[in-house]
Formats: sequence, structure tokens, C-alpha cells
Amino acid sequence: MSRVFNFSAGPAVLPEPVLRQAADEMLDWQGTGMSVMEMSHRGKEFISIHAEAEANFRELMDIPSSYKVLFMQGGAIGENAIVPMNLIGRTGRADYVLTGDWSKKSAKEAATYGQVHVAATAAASKFTAVPSQSEWKLDPGAAYVHICSNETIGGVQFHWTPDTGSVPLVADMSSDILSRRIDVRKYGLIYAGAQKNMGPSGLTMVIVREDLLGHALAITPSAFNYQLQAEADSMYNTPPTYAIYVAGLVFRHVKKMGGLAAMEAHNLAKANVLYDFLETSSFYRNPIAKEDRSLMNVPFWLNDESHNDAFLKGAEQRGMLQLKGHRSVGGMRASIYNAMPIEGVQALVQYMKEFESRHG
Ligand SMILES: *Cc1c(COP(=O)(O)O)cnc(C)c1O
Repeated sequence: MSRVFNFSAGPAVLPEPVLRQAADEMLDWQGTGMSVMEMSHRGKEFISIHAEAEANFRELMDIPSSYKVLFMQGGAIGENAIVPMNLIGRTGRADYVLTGDWSKKSAKEAATYGQVHVAATAAASKFTAVPSQSEWKLDPGAAYVHICSNETIGGVQFHWTPDTGSVPLVADMSSDILSRRIDVRKYGLIYAGAQKNMGPSGLTMVIVREDLLGHALAITPSAFNYQLQAEADSMYNTPPTYAIYVAGLVFRHVKKMGGLAAMEAHNLAKANVLYDFLETSSFYRNPIAKEDRSLMNVPFWLNDESHNDAFLKGAEQRGMLQLKGHRSVGGMRASIYNAMPIEGVQALVQYMKEFESRHG
């Protein structure tokens, strides 16, 4: 067996010890004679898996008891509709900050459910920087302000928390949750698909302040109603049980590695290896403003794009996979989530140097 360095943007690399444990327990979870996949979600075994996963997630993210943690389905794209269905009804209007493809998509979807106002957009910089808050035009009557904390395609990340006063801040953290410490108290709601940094696709985590529950539009499907899910401990419908189990193993693993402060240091060190090299190179470029560069997704372009295929092929031969940029922007993208070891980033930079000396 050999494992590659997997730079996929998602579904993405998971910690090897987690995959090994899941494999070991596949046929018989802790003497039950059953796979977790085969268990009733209402049985005591799965209830214990679910409870431990939630407790560890709360501990890792330091989530106050005034927030509910929901294990849902539908992904972040599902949440693009589920968030407004649950929250916009309070005033009928919401503010969106556009920093790239994902936040644009969120705003577009929300417009079906209420009045969407673009409070700020990074269009002027061609989505290479987060607009500073002094440029934002916030609506005090908005039901919430929506941001995407890390634009997975564009490689732009918030390294500060917006101040939205009494209007709840909502963040799509799909691609940077668990990668660094954040102050949950500054948010009304956080959502994230699991498949970037937490586990298998199919699971969506939602952290929601309790006072925001109870405003769902009448058209909201019951399974996507936060209040109903909160009252049912995320078991209003059958939750994605196996994905919750694997995410639970990831939470345990991240705790063992030292929690989010350790992840943050590790991720900063990894990203610096790549960005430090990109800054010195005239063969490759990354156009993102230095203070807004993503620590998770690093897009880069070869100045001569005719070398793209050769670059990808050579990388693959060295066991470095899924470096091709998103189809909407082209170029390359290295996604370096929690489970990417620094050795993977070092190997990539080494290869980039060699490729440059051959073709530069
Ligand atoms: C991957 C991603 C999504 C889409 O997730 P789905 O699981 O496909 O719904 C949305 N937002 C961000 C920031 C992402 O990284």
C-alpha cells in the first residue's frame, strides 16, 4: 500500500490514523458485531458516538452552551438556502459580503427567500482581497450578515472577524473550520460541510445561537428547520451516521494533536513554505493580497500556461495528486488542510523548483 500527497480541495485528505481505525472497526465496532454503518441511530451505541463527537467538537471550538450544534445533511450549498429559510424571516432582508465564488453563490441562492443586499464586494480587486470593513455598507435592519471565511476556489481568507454590531454574523467555514482558533461568540451562526477538514462528505455542521431559532419561513422543510433539529438532537430525520462517526474520530485526533492552537501553528508553517517560495519565483504567481491569503487553499499559476499539463503529469509521477485548479479559474491549486503533512508541502515546493529550473 502507498499513500499519495493528496492536494484535493474536497473531498480531501484525512488523517491516516483515523482511516486505519475506521478500517479496523469496519466489521465489528467495539465488540458489537456490527459496523457503525449498520447501527440504528437511536441505539445506545450510536447515541454514544454522536454524543462524544459533539462534546469533542464543542471542546475544540470552545462553543458556549448558548449555542446548538447540529449535525445535518445537504452540504454548504444546501445551507445557502437553509440559512435564509431559517433566519431571514425576522426582517426579510440580509447583507452579503462577496469575496469570491462561494459567497457569490450564497447570495444568489438567498435571493429566493428574501431581499439580499450586497454590503461589500471584492469585485474591484478581481476577488484577490477581502474588502476592509470601512468600505462595507451594512444595513442595520438586516436579519444577518453573511461571509465566507475562506474562499476555497479563489484562495482568499478572512484573518479578522467583522464587527456587525447587533446584527448576527453568519459564516460559511466549510474550508477552514478546525484549521485555527476562532471566537464563536462573535458569530450568530457558522456552517461547514465536513469534507474539507472534518470527515466524509454528507455531513454538514451547523453552530447556531439559540436566540436565532424559531424564525423559519413557513416553506422551510422540517428536516431543514434548525429549531426542529435542535429539539430532536439532530435526529429529526436519520442523520449521516457513518460520516458522524468518522468526523468524531477526526475530532478526537485533532484533540490529541493539541487542538486548534496546534493546528493553527502547523497550518501557518505549511502555508509559509509555499508562499515564501511563490514570492521569490518569477515562474509561478499567486495574485492574492498578502494579508488575505488563504492558509488552506493556495492557487497559483505558471506564467507560461503551455507547461500546465507537463507540470501536473510530473507532479503525479512524484505522488502529488489533484493539483489542478478549479475549472472556473484554471491554473493550479494546492489545498493544504489539517491532514496534509508539512512533508507534502516541502515535496511540492521541491518539485516546483526543479520544474522551474528545467522549463524556466
Ligand atoms: C466546498 C464548499 C462548498 C460546497 O459544499 P457542498 O458540500 O458541495 O455543498 C461551499 N462553500 C465552501 C466555502 C466550500 O469550500
